[in-house]
Amino acid sequence: MSNEYAVGIDLGTTNSVISIYRRGKAETIPIDGRNTLPSVVSFADARVIVGEEAKSRLHVFPENSVASVKRHMGNPAIQYKIHDKSYSPVDISSLILSRLVDGASENLNTRVINAVITVPAYFNESQKLDTRLAGEKVGLNVLRLIPEPTAAAVAYGLDKGKDQTILVYDLGGGTFDVSILRVEGNKFRVLAVDGDSQLGGDDFDEAIVKHFAQKFREQEGMDLIGTSSKEYRIALQKLKEEAENAKIELSSAQETEIIIPDILGRPFYLKLSREQFLNSIRSLIEKTFEKVDDALTISKISSEDIDRVILVGGSTRIPAVRDMVAEKIKEPYTSERVDEAVAHGAAIVAASFYLPEEDLSPVEVINVTAHSLGIEMMRPDYSGVFFQPLIKRNSTIPCKGGKLGSTVAPYQEEVRMRVYRGENDNPSENTFLTELVLPISKPTKGFIQVAAVFNLDEDGIIHFTAVEMVDNPKTRAYLENVSPDGLLTDFETLEDLTTNGHAKSVAVQFKGF
Ligand code: AMP
Repeated sequence: MSNEYAVGIDLGTTNSVISIYRRGKAETIPIDGRNTLPSVVSFADARVIVGEEAKSRLHVFPENSVASVKRHMGNPAIQYKIHDKSYSPVDISSLILSRLVDGASENLNTRVINAVITVPAYFNESQKLDTRLAGEKVGLNVLRLIPEPTAAAVAYGLDKGKDQTILVYDLGGGTFDVSILRVEGNKFRVLAVDGDSQLGGDDFDEAIVKHFAQKFREQEGMDLIGTSSKEYRIALQKLKEEAENAKIELSSAQETEIIIPDILGRPFYLKLSREQFLNSIRSLIEKTFEKVDDALTISKISSEDIDRVILVGGSTRIPAVRDMVAEKIKEPYTSERVDEAVAHGAAIVAASFYLPEEDLSPVEVINVTAHSLGIEMMRPDYSGVFFQPLIKRNSTIPCKGGKLGSTVAPYQEEVRMRVYRGENDNPSENTFLTELVLPISKPTKGFIQVAAVFNLDEDGIIHFTAVEMVDNPKTRAYLENVSPDGLLTDFETLEDLTTNGHAKSVAVQFKGF
């Protein structure tokens, strides 16, 4: 037996899974005897509890417990204050990872170090960076972060012996992702990704909670949602859990009952039919199909070109979701181990490039950017600034993009280039990432041409170079060949110009995933 393993980890919003590829197949490593570990952390006096036990402590000790931390990855404003200590989303995630890795190491009888971790296709650079940091915090060598839908497609599509186009519809607890992939042999090329990072099963629970709260108000005259006292918060937490249970029950039954013997001192009872539930979530489900249509448009294919629809994520167990997928795209495929497919795909990718001696030919994953990356530029009529994408969303990684601009005032001494991520024409509607200041070596009365170049590498690191096109015959010859829209295509010559001192550049790198 090899004493070094590379594992695949699905660090989920609700549940997490750790898997390994061996003896020709991917298998889940059980933690606490179960294949999925609830992604919940609870702090007792001297103990950190992760998983099932933490989940059951959630409503008894909500102030000492953390669930759905994944929703806050990449958000520096979130800190959990527990027992006078402060924990970031990275800290909490690393506790979950630590439980998985310890469990797997025990099971495999060797310390697990190498891992591929999955992330939603829609995660941005800071969310990915936080995921990587959480892994590194527990001593993991994070071989790669791969998108969850891609992992699911790998788990499904490998060894099917048929080139095909797969659409992965992934509706989880907190997020919705759609990915379209072309599979050729062991090569998985992502054609398009889209999604909504604020749409998932939690919103369906919320719809039930609202329905319940309205009835409760009508009957008892108390407003459960609008009041923030501790008593109400605990009642609301309890109600959320009941709502989730009711929702899950409605996936197999036509009708369910919510019975709470004591909520704010009152017993409460509510009957909910599948039809009523569907009516309250229909518009949310429909939103997912707008994203599917966008992804099809970007891939330049129609739903008839899809060979397989794979369902991922707990919320795809809702019969209405499946029916709508069948109606709007195609009859979906579901594996019995839907909860484990993502981790299995990650394990296959991990093994394929970490243990080439395994009985597995390398799996190649060609990914795309989920967001556009660009800079703020002055409008040609000086009426204000706009967002100029240099790398458009859904570009295949690695890729480059660049744009020519100029100084805007005589004797300008520097050009400030602000980098944003997003899709909006207005920079302030996008996410600010960093700023690069290009000093102008020879300020003149006339305008000086400057270039901005992004180089997005395999690991998602953005190398940003700003170039002053110092006036000389070499730079003039280069500028003559730039198309009127100012978009750059010849990066090699530009690089030669700066290396040889004909143009002057400054560069910055910011780590992506
Ligand atoms: P995931 O993020 O993929 O783990 O999905 C978790 C979400 O799936 C949560 O919102 C769960 O309530 C939901 N879920 C799990 N099982 C079911 C089910 N049988 N019917 C409806 N929703 C479910």
